[in-house]
Amino acid sequence: LASAMAPQPATVACQYRTGRTLGSGTYAIVKEAIHIKTGKYYACKVINKKLMEGREHMVRNEIAVLKRISSGHPNIVTLHDYFETSHNLYLCFDLCTGGELFDSICARGQYTEADAAELVRTIFAAVKYIHDCDIVHRDLKPENLLFRSKPEQTSEIMIADFGLSRVMAENKLSMLTEICGTPGYMAPEIFKKTGHGKPVDVWAMGVITYFLLAGYTPFDRDTQRQEMEAIIAGDYRFEPEEYWCNVSQTAREFVSECLTIDPQSRPTAADCLAHPWLTAEQPHFVESE
Ligand code: ADP
Ligand code: MG
Repeated sequence: LASAMAPQPATVACQYRTGRTLGSGTYAIVKEAIHIKTGKYYACKVINKKLMEGREHMVRNEIAVLKRISSGHPNIVTLHDYFETSHNLYLCFDLCTGGELFDSICARGQYTEADAAELVRTIFAAVKYIHDCDIVHRDLKPENLLFRSKPEQTSEIMIADFGLSRVMAENKLSMLTEICGTPGYMAPEIFKKTGHGKPVDVWAMGVITYFLLAGYTPFDRDTQRQEMEAIIAGDYRFEPEEYWCNVSQTAREFVSECLTIDPQSRPTAADCLAHPWLTAEQPHFVESE
């Protein structure tokens, strides 16, 4: 793996002792790891080289992006160290012990509107930071949003997994065309292959906001094909009513704006942060018992 990951002595791996598995994704297993010298705990993303064969550039890219933004924002996971052995690549991150937002939503059923707004505001501020650094994340979803510690605190929600992210200049808004991501969170322009960029992250935030408020995602369908067709058509509803009766019109409008089909007309992260749903001091929330 060229310059970004010059091979290092295999002994580097021996500086850590790995423990329990924290999670896994498409290409990686993430394990708790103790730095033997300091006794400090980290999260170590172990990427199998064989599984990644031909896609090594993805890891190189993930490291390059993390180097560019890590430590620059309190709500983005910090990369501490990386090294490789003959079999694996290792990325060592700050350990987040609070678990995935996904599990938190499932445990609660759904978030109250006030809690959802606070969380969405915090995540969007970090997304704006990423975009200001000319990076598009492309895989925003509750599985990649982690709480730094337990009990979960909104201020400690962390954006993780820059495996699909790309560096892209502001003026090349619609440069990327490959199909990638997690279907339920993918924007219409990704399926249409008309080129995509930062607006895909705003779309994903719309899906995440819907999920937080309702406890289920907007484009769930029986087959992936139907799901894709629903996304392209922007076919979702604030239904069934029993899940939405306590959700304000302002919140619904916020979701609808994030889920604007045309990426050129979709609000930016900065626009979203200025939306009344996220700026209101006394929110428009329906009081309910
Ligand atoms: P993939 O690219 O395979 O999806 P991720 O970076 O998303 O890999 O990591 C997979 C899972 O591992 C995450 O969804 C999360 O549950 C867990 N994980 C990742 N990073 C950390 C971390 N810093 N602290 C704790 N758990 C983590
Ligand atoms: Mg992931």
